[in-house]
Amino acid sequence: MLVVLSGPSGVGKSTLLRLLFSRCPDLVPSVSATTRSPRRGEIDGVDYHFLSQESFNKKRSQGEFLETCQVYGRQHWYGTLLAEVAPRLAEGKWVVLEIDVEGTFNVLKKYPDALTIFVEPADIRQLDQRLLERGTETPEAIRRRLDVAKGELEMSHRYKHRVVNDHIEEAVKTIHDILSAAGYQKFCQTSTNQLR
Ligand code: ADP
Ligand code: 5GP
Repeated sequence: MLVVLSGPSGVGKSTLLRLLFSRCPDLVPSVSATTRSPRRGEIDGVDYHFLSQESFNKKRSQGEFLETCQVYGRQHWYGTLLAEVAPRLAEGKWVVLEIDVEGTFNVLKKYPDALTIFVEPADIRQLDQRLLERGTETPEAIRRRLDVAKGELEMSHRYKHRVVNDHIEEAVKTIHDILSAAGYQKFCQTSTNQLR
């Protein structure tokens, strides 16, 4: 099963997925490629495959991507590598993509049955607050991300599921319940009690 999780920058996607992956170790994260620089604490090959523009372009011309996208005001490139997805799906694994809205629609062209989940804030001010607290973007980059967020929130109805990330544990449990309803429990090695 292919699971696609999206939502505006700062809503808490990475935090939710970190918790979900630690509790459900048989879910497979797809590690995207990006041309942006690593943030403090980010590890190459774990958080992203950090590539130069030249190396990203080369992979794209060789057909190595399932989708690519230039996110946030034409600044950086991001892309899902086929090698992260296709072989794992062929083994029957549950692969989780964390990608933007445009990328999701491109993935759905190739995998129309993907389970799509959109993570929303309880209100738009939470995004501003969380991006400020995270402290990884300049004020200008935060403004750009908030501008993009408004358009992304308008597309949320096109996802199969929407999850509000107000209380983190509730949001993780809701995502786990969505996966379970789609048949995930038979693969899960950890007790769902840990999520309650
Ligand atoms: P994203 O991956 O969507 O850009 P992050 O996971 O990096 O967002 O979260 C942005 C910031 O918000 C982080 O500092 C994170 O610790 C915080 N955060 C995430 N979820 C919550 C929540 N439910 N309540 C309060 N803060 C949160
Ligand atoms: P960040 O720079 O905060 O890690 O991510 C910025 C945005 O890029 C997020 O919305 C994230 O979901 C999206 N993103 C990350 N990887 C990919 C990818 O491989 N493809 C697409 N289309 N978007 C991605």
